[in-house]
Amino acid sequence: MATLSTLQQADIQHFIHPFTDSKTLGEKGTRIIERAEGVYLWDIEGRKLLDGMAGLWCVNVGYGRQSIVDAVSKQMQQLPYYNSFFQCTHPPAIELAKTIAELAPAHMNCVFFTGSGSESNDTNLRMVRRYWDLKGQPTKKTIISRDNAYHGSTVAGASLGGMSGMHKQGDLPIPGIVHIAQPYWYGEGGDLTPEAFGLQAAQALEAKILELGEENVAAFIAEPFQGAGGVIIPPSTYWPEIKRILAKYDVLLILDEVISGFGRTGCWFAAEYFDLKPDLISIAKGMTSGYVPMGGVIIADRIAEVIKNQCGEFTHGYTYSGHPVAAAAALENIRIIVQEKLVEKVATETAPYFQSRLQQLAEHPLVGEVRGIGLVAAIELVKDKSLRQRFNSDIGVGTWCRDLCIEHGLVMRSVGDTMIISPPLTISLAQVDELIEKAIKALNDTYAKCMVYK
Ligand SMILES: *Cc1c(COP(=O)(O)O)cnc(C)c1O
Repeated sequence: MATLSTLQQADIQHFIHPFTDSKTLGEKGTRIIERAEGVYLWDIEGRKLLDGMAGLWCVNVGYGRQSIVDAVSKQMQQLPYYNSFFQCTHPPAIELAKTIAELAPAHMNCVFFTGSGSESNDTNLRMVRRYWDLKGQPTKKTIISRDNAYHGSTVAGASLGGMSGMHKQGDLPIPGIVHIAQPYWYGEGGDLTPEAFGLQAAQALEAKILELGEENVAAFIAEPFQGAGGVIIPPSTYWPEIKRILAKYDVLLILDEVISGFGRTGCWFAAEYFDLKPDLISIAKGMTSGYVPMGGVIIADRIAEVIKNQCGEFTHGYTYSGHPVAAAAALENIRIIVQEKLVEKVATETAPYFQSRLQQLAEHPLVGEVRGIGLVAAIELVKDKSLRQRFNSDIGVGTWCRDLCIEHGLVMRSVGDTMIISPPLTISLAQVDELIEKAIKALNDTYAKCMVYK
């Protein structure tokens, strides 16, 4: 059996990790996660951790689901792979498309399958441009996105995203994608009320459409709430104003629900939660609870009709579009969510309890704001609560807090000095208590460590 240090050495020598500074990783050594059950992870040294991030926002039904293992294993025996190109198809992909159409908003009844969230957004880019060509409006090509959005890491995904650190590497964004301000009141709202700031951020969309000319704008892409950007939940005025603007101009709405889909907000899709009528919805992550990679785009009827009837061959797709094993995992994952009434349970029980317990953390001297919806939340760590003043970013207070969470047996992620929580939807009320208690211990320790900078 490989020992911890030989595994760590091989990891550093051969494995380039995503979104990682390999040099500092090598200095610190990596944490090797070996197994998981329910909402808990165990690392190779036997340390038990409550997974407050559901992996990477994806393990909605929790770990250790034997029925998904069985469904996948059965599908592998029967048909491990076949494509859906060239007039072929297979039962799991058909059944999954039908199932998702039933769960999706009523005006959306078709699915294009991909292998990931990034690929879903690449698909969106090509599909909306093709749509406008077919509608006889070939100049409608530009997609408007937002600063600090996350739409994946492929060339189109990273370009659609608004992460400046990503744009710097690889000469992005590609042409035809522009960004407007994000609705991040706590970070950028200044003296405005959240409501006034929300309106202002939404009106940046109208200003951008007018600047570019409506005849040149294909779509607006947005996460219902920004995930990787720091769980940024728009002020209550934001989405209604965006809706007003989208109704006024002929601009499509691409809603990136890679995190928010499949129950995170207490609705199947956040489109319901925010009362939106998207033209395309990107899905991945919770679609299979991460057991097997899969993504997709849910397509509104008005787009699907054009792509189906007027496009000829839509020259787009992936070898693994609708992969039968992934589709089997997704179907069983959805069956579990339905059978255990996880969406209803999040809406009526877990989320109200989780959000009210989290509000207690707002009293903590290190915490500037706690915000959340459903089973997702952010905790802003600040130097001065009343001034909304942050610590110098060089200190890395968020990273300290993340590491101290681990010391106390909790996985929380940090985005700068914003702590992020997004646990499996199966978390029990007692486990919510455990999460909060561990978070308080980590906040206390972080606060003690920060005193010298106060
Ligand atoms: C994770 C994520 C993606 C990218 O998904 P991958 O499967 O990593 O390609 C896209 N959009 C959002 C909102 C995400 O959170």
